[in-house]
Amino acid sequence: MNGVKDLKYSSTRGGGAKAASAEAIIQGLAADGGLFVPEEMPAVDLDFIAEFSRLSYEERAARILGLFLTDYTAEELAGCISRAYGGGKFDDVRIAPVRMLKDFPILELWHGPTSAFKDMALQLLPQLLQTALKKTGERAEILILVATSGDTGKAALEGFADVDRIKILVFYPTGGVSKIQNLQMCTQKGKNVCVVAVEGNFDDAQNGVKEIFSDKAFCDKLAARNVKLSSANSINWGRLVPQIVYYFSAYADLVEKGAIQAGEEIDFCVPTGNFGDILAGYYAKRMGLPVAQLVCASNSNNVLTDFLQTGVYDKKRDFYKTISPSMDILISSNLERLLYHETNDAAQIKDWMRQLASEGRYEVGAAVLQKLKETFWAGWVDDAATKATIREVYAKEHYVLDTHSAVAYRVAQAYKKDTGSKRPLVVVSTASPYKFNESVLDALGAAREGLDEFSLLDKLASLNESPIPQGLASLKDAAILHKTTCEKTAMRAMAENFAKK
Ligand SMILES: *Cc1c(COP(=O)(O)O)cnc(C)c1O
Repeated sequence: MNGVKDLKYSSTRGGGAKAASAEAIIQGLAADGGLFVPEEMPAVDLDFIAEFSRLSYEERAARILGLFLTDYTAEELAGCISRAYGGGKFDDVRIAPVRMLKDFPILELWHGPTSAFKDMALQLLPQLLQTALKKTGERAEILILVATSGDTGKAALEGFADVDRIKILVFYPTGGVSKIQNLQMCTQKGKNVCVVAVEGNFDDAQNGVKEIFSDKAFCDKLAARNVKLSSANSINWGRLVPQIVYYFSAYADLVEKGAIQAGEEIDFCVPTGNFGDILAGYYAKRMGLPVAQLVCASNSNNVLTDFLQTGVYDKKRDFYKTISPSMDILISSNLERLLYHETNDAAQIKDWMRQLASEGRYEVGAAVLQKLKETFWAGWVDDAATKATIREVYAKEHYVLDTHSAVAYRVAQAYKKDTGSKRPLVVVSTASPYKFNESVLDALGAAREGLDEFSLLDKLASLNESPIPQGLASLKDAAILHKTTCEKTAMRAMAENFAKK
């Protein structure tokens, strides 16, 4: 093992000061608008990986986090990890179990409190942030602002609820989230949480939050009251690093099950939106995990498929609302980190990101594209093929995939066919099918007319072997605690009022 003693983080765009990980996690974004990246890549050997088979998920997390967050003590990390993954908050003690189907092993990342993979990172980020505040002597209170189209809002609320010195305010669009997602957020408990519905769509909510962040006068006013704004979205290093763990964990589980030999190369196929999940797999590979290819799976919003095939990133295209909504994204923020690591050229990254902002497009050229293709393969599927896959896998395996995981499954099949790869491939599964029960029941051909949300859950449960997750089942009797609605123009006032409380 080759740990780096005092690992520092710098901006993908070359500006600003280097930061220890605690500062990078507090800041979220680097001062020049770039993303924080580690200056060196910790390397591990096969002994390090082989040992994982004997460790619990929490111990695995401690090993990986210790390599990246070198300014945290082992005790601090252990405390953060046990508050995140312990205490029965996950409904499977293995936290991220691998399920062996006939065609592919499935890495299930949805056993956390909100039934989507966002929990893997958003249970841990608040703990890392709170510890960072203590470590750095930061005296401000933090106000986390989130605009959500569904999964992130609830996962962030669950993660930050009752975390000291941090408050969280979530804005969701009135018409933009599912009934279940709405209930999940509006029933959230915790003395430091606030949930507000914004009249409008997701863009309205997101633009409103962006405006608050860039309103200097407003931020100064908050600062005078000792409050700092921060964000929980997936560009924060504290959200990315927890995700590296489960690639190692899955590999160790496959070795333990005898499905692969230690040292054997495998592939992962990842349903991708903001490029955070798959990027964590890239870090794992760069550290020395025997990963050959990372397969990037998209829905009809296939900007990444085009990019990884042609080297042209072009967001000027139609936007589709699909049945895998958490992947309905045209700007994949974390791609910036990948490009930085592949080029080591911050000036170039800065220029590409400037082009993306001003012209909606950039092109990386043949040499960089070639390097990307050595690691990444990309494909996409539409809603019809997604549903067909859910149906097919259910018929063959009696296993119910959610829509996002089905996208990955289908792309994984295409990848095998196209490349002839014989390597074992793990399909990364990012949500419980219960979370997207309408589309899943449609796919399975089950009639759902006239059924309310909870009857739909019951109906799906009658087809699925695994039970309805507790967090969803308990919504039925949970009290509605958040009823506030506001105009888009009133979001700032909402933030100000909440900050005062
Ligand atoms: C967020 C999310 C994704 C996409 O992950 P990225 O890290 O943004 O690429 C995929 N599936 C589900 C269910 C999600 O919630």
